[in-house]
Amino acid sequence: PYLLTDQGFVNRDELYYPFEERGLQFGDGVYEVIRIYRGNYYLIKEHVERLFRSAKAIKINVPYSKEEMYEKLDELLTKNSVETDAKVYLQLTRGSAPRDHAFPKDVQANLYAYVQDLPRKVEPLQNGVTTITQPDVRWDYCYIKSLNLLPNVMAKQEATEKGAFEAILHRNKKVTEGSSSNVYLVKDGIVYTHPATENILHGCVRMRVVALTTQLGFPFIQAAFSLEDIAEADELFITSSTAEIMPVVKVDDIQVGTGKPGPVTQQLQQAYEKDAKIPQSDSI
Ligand code: PLP
Repeated sequence: PYLLTDQGFVNRDELYYPFEERGLQFGDGVYEVIRIYRGNYYLIKEHVERLFRSAKAIKINVPYSKEEMYEKLDELLTKNSVETDAKVYLQLTRGSAPRDHAFPKDVQANLYAYVQDLPRKVEPLQNGVTTITQPDVRWDYCYIKSLNLLPNVMAKQEATEKGAFEAILHRNKKVTEGSSSNVYLVKDGIVYTHPATENILHGCVRMRVVALTTQLGFPFIQAAFSLEDIAEADELFITSSTAEIMPVVKVDDIQVGTGKPGPVTQQLQQAYEKDAKIPQSDSI
């Protein structure tokens, strides 16, 4: 398999980093996870734009222009003959240099991107998933898709140990987002989610959900809801490039709505499949 790097394409076995690499030592970098359906990128523009925004926020120069990035990412799929459902993981760090907190002089950014198979999670998409809640102990710049994921990792592990799919994070009882997803509540046909402030990642799927919800005629309100609101919710769902639009049927010990995926979530799932050009034969 071929990887895209800042030095062009290399074979998977040929990529090595010195142990003094700033992504490894400081988490000094940013990343993207881009979804592919049947060999085609979904929301590629949103992901490339966000990569450049994240990189700028932490003062890393992307080694390619946006135009080059689109071309290289396309080439990555062609070179690997990708025709199935998959994802690309792309990572950009400040580079390799002797360890020092401050930016090293003349350091060159390290970039790599590779493809991994990712079949759709059909069963949970149909039946919903369970979740737990966890305090959001992250920093104030969660809109940057940074490599510093320790709080997210710890929250997801807590969920995994409890047999749950995701940890829903809250700051002072207000739901921000999931450990690796955005979170939405549906009540009386209205969809609520945390506003796109610096306290959440501005999800690419979230951006589409805003548009799809409006297309379907459901009011969309960007206002944070509380943990107490969950008990009164009709529906709850989470979104991400890998989880798509995933119904949530339980939060801690609380059943959401009827305990089954609700009609608003299901209509959004259908609209998503259309938007992502998922063929009928692959639909949930
Ligand atoms: N929020 C967090 C913390 C994430 O890590 C992710 C993605 O993994 C998302 C939200 C969803 O973002 P996207 O829809 O761009 O995949």
